[in-house]
Amino acid sequence: MVVHHLNCVSTCPLGGRLMDGRASSVVTRGELCCHCLLVETEQGLVLIDTGFGLEDVRNPRSRLSRFFLALVSPDFREEMTAIRQIERLGYDPRDVRHIVLSHLDFDHAGGLSDFPQATVHMFHVESTYARAQRTWMDRQRFRPQQWPTMQHWQTYASDDGERWRGFEHVRALDGLPPSILLVPLRGHTFGHAGIAVEGRSGWLLDAADAYFYRDEMADRPHCTPGLRFYQWMLEKDRRARFENQARLRALRREDNDVLIFCSHDMVEFEALAGRPGGTLPRERPRQAPGAYDAAARPAR
Ligand SMILES: [Zn+2]
Repeated sequence: MVVHHLNCVSTCPLGGRLMDGRASSVVTRGELCCHCLLVETEQGLVLIDTGFGLEDVRNPRSRLSRFFLALVSPDFREEMTAIRQIERLGYDPRDVRHIVLSHLDFDHAGGLSDFPQATVHMFHVESTYARAQRTWMDRQRFRPQQWPTMQHWQTYASDDGERWRGFEHVRALDGLPPSILLVPLRGHTFGHAGIAVEGRSGWLLDAADAYFYRDEMADRPHCTPGLRFYQWMLEKDRRARFENQARLRALRREDNDVLIFCSHDMVEFEALAGRPGGTLPRERPRQAPGAYDAAARPAR
């Protein structure tokens, strides 16, 4: 399957280098990406996480909390939304048939409203917990304004599925090929998931917010103080979060066939996308409808 890497609106958190590890100082703002994938399958286009959407860019105060707007100050440029980047790649956004969500935080689910026709896949506990709006922080991070209709949500029990590369209860998704898998990575939220995608050169594992900083996957893990604080502030199950980070590190060490990345590390994004994080993919002419991944299709 052909996989495109899209940064669907950067955030510019307070703390500069203390957050992203590469800004020029600690008094400027840092730059984090919202790393999403667009996958061409025979079932149509599949979007893995959605980043911020058109309505977030046009009307942020009606959709996002003041707290997070002040803290992470998204770089709202309409051309960076998933829908505009999909058009730039020559596709009709209506051909996005499926969205697989790691979790429902505002910086992952904002684009849902741009694809009302798509089936949205996630763990059941994620949808129920985010809707419950239990704590002050839950109300800042999970924004029902971004998903008013909840149309076509397809949810899954977290204790089904099979073992895959050291992770339990990994499962394929209804209507999607077995080369896209939902991997439970509880911790950041209760229903947080990674998404594994088998591309042309092996598996990609989008670990989403299971970790935030590239060096957290090193043999001697390290995280910037700002991102350590941010993860602590938002975690729902610390023990599970650390256990899953340890599993991800082991997988990275032991399995060369799986390439792991997270949602917000710009260095990882740039290495995989092959372009600077604030830029767009190369523009392509309009693709014929249904022309997805023609090269991978079996000859008739
Ligand atoms: Zn996030």
